[in-house]
Amino acid sequence: MKQKETLSTTPLKEEKISLSNLLIEEMGDQHKASSVDTPMRADAFEKTDDEKIAAIEPHFRAIMEILGMDLNDDSLRGTPLRVAKMYVKELFQGLNPANMPSMTLFENKFQYNEMLVEKNINFYTNCEHHFVPFFGNAHVAYISSGKVIGLSKLNRLVEYFSKRPQVQERLTMQIGKALQTVLQTQDVAIMMDAKHLCVSSRGVKDDSSTTITTFFGGKFQEEKTKMEFLKYIEIKEN
Ligand SMILES: [Zn+2]
Repeated sequence: MKQKETLSTTPLKEEKISLSNLLIEEMGDQHKASSVDTPMRADAFEKTDDEKIAAIEPHFRAIMEILGMDLNDDSLRGTPLRVAKMYVKELFQGLNPANMPSMTLFENKFQYNEMLVEKNINFYTNCEHHFVPFFGNAHVAYISSGKVIGLSKLNRLVEYFSKRPQVQERLTMQIGKALQTVLQTQDVAIMMDAKHLCVSSRGVKDDSSTTITTFFGGKFQEEKTKMEFLKYIEIKEN
């Protein structure tokens, strides 16, 4: 894999990982066969962001007009463009691997070989089946293989994969697998606990349920390590 070559030829204490290149490579012909990868069209990045915004705007305007709304109203006039910008520049900017945050690795100088857990990472994403938000907390853990990354990078990785139309299972796996690649270890665990507006604000209108998904790699598949992780994050009752 290209990733490994880059790393093995850069033996210094700080390494820049370009996961975006790796992900672009993975988005070849096979991507549709994998449930982990976000299903993308072959022409996904032929348009620039500005071209996408310009193209989405009239479509969103048409949806509002079909619903019967008067777009001449001052309050509504700017909505189609505002939504188009929000989709491309904010909510769904994680579809483009070019927006993958750079991951800087450091040598684990302290020889800290225990579990590192960052819990309660806030995330907001959107359900790909209804295009309404689901949001909650992500708990991320890994055991260093000799490399560590800055804690804020864990937040940024969660944020990056959240900025796509998502399903929670895939989001959890994408974060877990990306972290395994970056940290060069299988020993990664993710738990995500989220409230889905497509469940609470419509449909069955269940406002109290949350959904938990998990990813356990390497040592985290062993009962002892898994239980240690679960003890640290102890999910609280809402
Ligand atoms: Zn939904």
